[in-house]
Amino acid sequence: MSPANAKLNAFPVFMRVDGGAVAIVGNGEEALAKARLIAQSSAELRIIADHANAELLAFIATSGAVHVDAAYDAAQLEGAALAFAANGDEALDRRVAEDARRLGIPVNAVDRPELCDFFTPALVNRAPVAIAIGTEGAGPVLAQLLRARIDRMLSPSLGRLAALAASFRGAAERLPKGNRRRRFWSDFFAGAPAKAIEAGEFARAHDAALDLLASNAPAAGHIALVGAGPGAEDLLTLRAHRLLMEADAIVYDALVPEGIVAMGRRDAERLPVGKRKGCHSKSQEEINALLIELGRAGKRVVRLKSGDPLVFGRAGEEMAALREAGVAYEVVPGVTAAFAAAADFELPLTLRGVSSSMVFTTGHDLKGNSLPDWAKLAISGATVAVYMGRSVAAEVAGRLIEAGLSPDTAVAVVENASLGNRRRFHGTLADLPSLEARADLTGPVMTIIGDAVAGANFEGSEPLAAHRREDTGHESAANPADEGVEQ
Ligand code: SAH
Repeated sequence: MSPANAKLNAFPVFMRVDGGAVAIVGNGEEALAKARLIAQSSAELRIIADHANAELLAFIATSGAVHVDAAYDAAQLEGAALAFAANGDEALDRRVAEDARRLGIPVNAVDRPELCDFFTPALVNRAPVAIAIGTEGAGPVLAQLLRARIDRMLSPSLGRLAALAASFRGAAERLPKGNRRRRFWSDFFAGAPAKAIEAGEFARAHDAALDLLASNAPAAGHIALVGAGPGAEDLLTLRAHRLLMEADAIVYDALVPEGIVAMGRRDAERLPVGKRKGCHSKSQEEINALLIELGRAGKRVVRLKSGDPLVFGRAGEEMAALREAGVAYEVVPGVTAAFAAAADFELPLTLRGVSSSMVFTTGHDLKGNSLPDWAKLAISGATVAVYMGRSVAAEVAGRLIEAGLSPDTAVAVVENASLGNRRRFHGTLADLPSLEARADLTGPVMTIIGDAVAGANFEGSEPLAAHRREDTGHESAANPADEGVEQ
């Protein structure tokens, strides 16, 4: 998102040109480029060129543009909705711009921003849908790159779908406002009508839209348990993104970044239920009850959890409660913190001949007398990812060493994996206890232990041992509540 102080000097609007004329003064390449752009609209093209080059003449012949084959004169601009000065001649462009302004016609002079009332965008055209990209002249190449990217994203039949939508506007306005109407439109654009248009079956699309209009079934609520990924906004899946944009309500945990919640509709209910230090948070039972209540009210809910919803996310309890209550749900996976941390370290989680299994654990189960199974796996070579492990780092290291894992086993630690402010540490199992005392680690921390860790790229990471408990004088600031505990 732009910083609050970044303001546009050119504000995008869409000009009506139907039934009007657009005048272009110029006889070469630049005039032709503008003529091609304007020819994407229904405006009458008036090309004022007394010595038009061959290409421009050919364009005029095929496009039906009006050719004013005479030396430039201000009177030729009269009645135009927009004017372009594209002569490549500064004095003449300036004259055209001044004349246009005197006549009250907004003008654009090619490559002379100081003479321009408006700029032309890079355009993605799916009439009646248009996407205009502007950079205020800062990056025409960037604008073209963006144009190409957006163009690829949009179905070629989008315009047809929008035209069909326009023909249903009146009918849709007779539906009750709010949920019912919004659902009609989202089913229209994402459901059967859109699919039929995509297949080129226009009559079927029309019928499908009529069916949607008539269907009076009460809205059925639906909960999507969605993984928001480790923090970086662009590690969200496309499916998560789509569901977020369709959601009536977004219920999210503390570790989910604001930027991801903000991808939802502006009028979506946003319900934080997170466990953040010092904030009131809802109990798991309260969260279950909230989801059921929203589902029964017919809402489409996105339940956003950091990372993957099925990894230390208490999704098991939420799914059981929803099943019990008869509320429909689905699960959308996300990039779990261990994978993001491994990527940040270029760390192979499985490594041929070294490690062929992996453990996701919290380390909070190490307190008892008997070693949990995962400790045995670690000893037999599994790569271990420890979630919420900062406050139990000493316990984890101590018990694993006691059980026979070498104190020299490699350890990688990432705070704020995937984010711009991530920090990476490396060391050995013997160094791991130092983690508990580090008051400077305030973000979520992922610890990865195992021989495969030795295959990571440690460049730019800090040594773990450099910050031992006895050096700090701090009491441990870490407790499970600070770790974004979701388990
Ligand atoms: N469902 C989440 C885990 C929730 S438990 C997932 O799949 O990732 C919360 C723990 O996840 C934190 O204590 C921390 O150990 C880990 N974690 C979450 N985001 C992290 C991040 N960006 N960097 C490092 N660890 C993270």
